[in-house]
Amino acid sequence: MVYEAIKKLVCYGLETGLVEPEDRIYTVNQILDVLKLDEYEEPEEEFSGVNLEETLGELLDYACGQGIIEDSIVYRDLFDTRLMNCLMPRPSQVIKKFWEEYKTSPEAATAYYYKLSQDSDYIRRYRIVKDMKWVTSTEYGDLDITVNLSKPEKDPKAIAAAKLAKQSGYPKCLLCRENEGYAGRTNHPARNNHRIIPITVNDSAWGFQYSPYVYYNEHCIVFNGQHTPMKIEKNTFVKLFDFVKLFPHYFLAPTRIFPSWAAPF
Ligand SMILES: [Zn+2]
Repeated sequence: MVYEAIKKLVCYGLETGLVEPEDRIYTVNQILDVLKLDEYEEPEEEFSGVNLEETLGELLDYACGQGIIEDSIVYRDLFDTRLMNCLMPRPSQVIKKFWEEYKTSPEAATAYYYKLSQDSDYIRRYRIVKDMKWVTSTEYGDLDITVNLSKPEKDPKAIAAAKLAKQSGYPKCLLCRENEGYAGRTNHPARNNHRIIPITVNDSAWGFQYSPYVYYNEHCIVFNGQHTPMKIEKNTFVKLFDFVKLFPHYFLAPTRIFPSWAAPF
């Protein structure tokens, strides 16, 4: 049963292009390691059109049943992100492919990266579809309202564990580059499957990524390579224009919550 779920997950990797055929056996072995298994018998059944949420659910149930993790949403999210990382290319491979696609067009580059960010389950498609969205008319005009349901509610066990967890300054915040590949904790989300595209704006190093919570279509975030407080100043405009020169199909706005966010026109 668990072997079937492993085969399905690898099949998902091959179907989405996260895993190259040459990496199939390697990928199986990475998954075995995460599941603390030291052997594998390949099931005969062939799978196609694999349902990711269902397959991860089977593997998570197995891990809970074996006592590898506690059965609660926070531990399950940490663990399935680790499983997904078994399918993931290294950051350098993603960056290389991104700029190769960019030679065709900036749209091709962001289309590749957005698909990757979803296929990797960094953006959990099956949760985003549950978000509630509607337009309501007000005396000031139409107002778009969204209720985000993709951030899981914490369960009491995880809240208790997070209280006891030592306060950590690493990564310094949710939008620092040190999140790339970070396994997370009860008080910090897992980012094993997260990949960042380094870009240069205003002659300095910045990071480009999508928001895992998708408040807007292709909602992306541009953040400073250094953990520094955000300021709105003359240079902000240089940075904004540098970004839209690189990605003319996106628009960008400075925000206080996130360093800045962007979405396609
Ligand atoms: Zn930071």
